[in-house]
Amino acid sequence: MKQFVVIGLGRFGASIASTLYGLGNDVLGIDIDEEIIQYMADQITHAVQADATDEGALKALGVRNFDVAIVSIGQDIQASILVTLILKELGLKYVVAKAQNELHGKVLYKIGADRVVFPERDMGVRVAHNLVSTSVLDYIELSPDFSIVEIEPIPEWHDKTLGQLDIREKYGLNIMAIKRNEDVIISPKAKDYIFKGDILFVVGENKDIEKLEKRF
Ligand code: ATP
Repeated sequence: MKQFVVIGLGRFGASIASTLYGLGNDVLGIDIDEEIIQYMADQITHAVQADATDEGALKALGVRNFDVAIVSIGQDIQASILVTLILKELGLKYVVAKAQNELHGKVLYKIGADRVVFPERDMGVRVAHNLVSTSVLDYIELSPDFSIVEIEPIPEWHDKTLGQLDIREKYGLNIMAIKRNEDVIISPKAKDYIFKGDILFVVGENKDIEKLEKRF
């Protein structure tokens, strides 16, 4: 069990906080809005009303002892930057901050955020890939050049082994796992088969993934 502090319980922060709590973690949620605190009170370990730009308030809540902090203040970019800075200065080891745009993200990294997330942008990319190719079930960007896709196999791959298909050589892609009903085959080998209904987790360069998407 880890200890998380989530600052800003809007749609994104509330969803992260309640999911982390549901997964068995200790979650302190902080928001400036009393109504939101009342609404979240029974969905996380502790919900506290406070202005997170107030360093004294964060200190009093003992946030420095938490394993991970998530700063999920969106609209008020100044507050998001200030809170991230205070958390790093207090000595928090891992701070994840949500950015509104690229520039906001750059500033967050500069002042010490360990990870910056762009939920709206990333979800837009994921939905777009799914719309272009309905066999793409999910799309996760690892870096500007590399991604992981969750896809159904194209029909010509059915009932063939990975060795026969030579996907790495032909498409420049690696199949990390095959999900078959409730089973998951991690790091499948050349002798492993692909069947209709399987879900493949594929990692590779975006340009190679795009080529594959066009095959569907
Ligand atoms: P989302 O898209 O996640 O709903 P958002 O990006 O629109 O949120 P905001 O609504 O601006 O972001 O902020 C998220 C939450 O952060 C709100 O519930 C807001 O009350 C809270 N918040 C804003 N400023 C502060 C602050 N200084 N201290 C604590 N909480 C704050």
